Amino acid sequence: MFTIRSSILRPQLRPTISLLHSSSYTFSSAAAIEAERTISKGPRNDWTRDEIKSIYDSPVLDLLFHGAQVHRHAHNFREVQQCTLLSIKTGGCSEDCSYCPQSSRYDTGLKAQRLMSKDAVLEAAKKAKEAGSTRFCMGAAWRETVGRKTNFNQILEYVKEIRNMGMEVCCTLGMLEQQQAVELKKAGLTAYNHNLDTSREYYPNIITTRSYDERLETLQFVRDAGINVCSGGIIGLGEAEADRVGLLHTLATLPTHPESVPINALIAVKGTPLQDQKPVNIWEMIRMIASARIIMPKAMVRLSAGRVRFSMPEQALCFLAGANSIFTGEKLLTTPNNDFDADQLMFKVLGLTPKAPSFSDDATFETNACEEVASTSG
Ligand code: SF4
Repeated sequence: MFTIRSSILRPQLRPTISLLHSSSYTFSSAAAIEAERTISKGPRNDWTRDEIKSIYDSPVLDLLFHGAQVHRHAHNFREVQQCTLLSIKTGGCSEDCSYCPQSSRYDTGLKAQRLMSKDAVLEAAKKAKEAGSTRFCMGAAWRETVGRKTNFNQILEYVKEIRNMGMEVCCTLGMLEQQQAVELKKAGLTAYNHNLDTSREYYPNIITTRSYDERLETLQFVRDAGINVCSGGIIGLGEAEADRVGLLHTLATLPTHPESVPINALIAVKGTPLQDQKPVNIWEMIRMIASARIIMPKAMVRLSAGRVRFSMPEQALCFLAGANSIFTGEKLLTTPNNDFDADQLMFKVLGLTPKAPSFSDDATFETNACEEVASTSG
């Protein structure tokens, strides 16, 4: 224990893998061993599902502790990115995602709206920036952008304008074609969100109108265009823990780790097929966050939908476990989100600082960057 504490203060004295395997670490968890490996050797993409399961199944406080260790080596642990997510085209979606109130297949009382005007979107981005947000994400409830040339061109304009305001810009518009990803990159898009939602095995229970492979293909187009990939999932859909491990495994074995990994807890909405799902508890979130942090050390792990149900101390545990990004704003697309003043207070109480925007055009991450960042983290 003393050796681990020393490693926080003096990274050069970190225990080696062999020490972790020695008799004094007889009771080391997989989280401890793999966190140490990540810290000493950097990110890797060749995780096996069993390795990730062992990390995920570690005693939760040990998992949290080692998630925090990796976090402090890979990031400034006080910095939390604030993203504002705005629904620029709400409802009327042809897809059947079982959790989503925006699907036209479910009667949730949501009124479909057209694409928001440029003035309204830019005004929202301005307000978000004034409130401390550094990334502005625009969401449209579409299956895909193909065949929506006029709307797509409008969105390219929005991207350019918001980037010129000094913010990072993200979009989530459904499936993309390669050419559209290229056009979004030219317009200045920082990141594209396209969640995998759950494991490949459980996915057909949640969505039947597009395949897992189609999702992966969109991520490929985004990556090839040089746009940062934002991709994560949702827990609380009725999946087994093996599915959560499966989701993490798919994300951590992509050709490059996603730049952002949103971890969402289902907000069950009346009228959707998942309306009766029980809310997940905080320890389930912490398991996901700390596991994601250990296996994808450089990613921004985003505490996303469902945060509104967690108290400040519960959110503090999530930040400790390795979360370093949140969504701010009144709503997350159509579901409620945390109050702006409450978030400001939380930053003050927890000593968190907003993360500045980054405009690096490099969407890939060096495999040995973990150690470099370690030397600059606070
Ligand atoms: S999650 Fe997206 S694609 Fe699925 S129904 Fe909702 S808006 Fe449509």
